[in-house]
Amino acid sequence: MGPNRQPSPLGQTKHRHDDIEDGTLARTASPHPSPVGTKAPAAPAKARSTVAKGACAYLNPRAGGTVTAPSEAFDRLRGKSGAAKVSSPETKDSYTWPDKSTSKAVQQEVEIDGQKIRVVRPTDDGAKGKNLPTTKELAEALRAIPADQRAHTSVIVVSPTPSPDKSASGTIAGEGGSGEIRLYPVTAAQAQNDFDNRLTHESGHNVQGQFWTGAGDVHDWQTAADADSSRPSPYAASTTGDDFSEFNVLFNAARGTACEATAKKIYPNRWAKMESYRSK
Ligand SMILES: [Zn+2]
Repeated sequence: MGPNRQPSPLGQTKHRHDDIEDGTLARTASPHPSPVGTKAPAAPAKARSTVAKGACAYLNPRAGGTVTAPSEAFDRLRGKSGAAKVSSPETKDSYTWPDKSTSKAVQQEVEIDGQKIRVVRPTDDGAKGKNLPTTKELAEALRAIPADQRAHTSVIVVSPTPSPDKSASGTIAGEGGSGEIRLYPVTAAQAQNDFDNRLTHESGHNVQGQFWTGAGDVHDWQTAADADSSRPSPYAASTTGDDFSEFNVLFNAARGTACEATAKKIYPNRWAKMESYRSK
């Protein structure tokens, strides 16, 4: 059974992450655990008692788009990883991209603390104007993913052509699943912080494969998510997998910092569920 890709709808507000669209390469097809309309009656969203302030404000539910943890959070996480070793570029005369088009590609290996990740990207000419990360930017984003999560990603494909899985609502900027992360051209200029957030999000889809081996596991996450009075971002509502991946960015950023207590107050059930996975 081939992977089941589930691109998600795109938010329509003007936040710059709104053109960052992705989907999930689910390992296991699973029914949506929580059909629309079955939620508890209507009270206008439960009042949120905790508002994160100052350097923890990134934890507050986003009004639009995706979560965005700050550079300081990723720099702190990078501090736990060694330097990245990047192999010499190896040119491939013809590489088949996800949309089945072919062009010249460059392949490199990024090694971080003994883990090797293969990166396939277009030539500089092929990448021009597409707001794709350099291999160096990818390597730095990978260093900011905790080693036990990074271990579930083995290949990154930086595609010069759009995803074949166009959603009705817009561009797909990335996909994660089955150990692979794919990044696609986007319209907005991207900085290291954008790649840090996006790679962490996409790597979350690969981590899910470890915890979610059946529909029951997916359902359990959704139950925890529904029990929290807030969701990290509108994008988190796309799929259960995206809820996990969005929250995972916040979890990594806050865990072990002065923001952790606040994160637990805003997302108590997601936090406890994520901790339970970590202790397995
Ligand atoms: Zn996603």
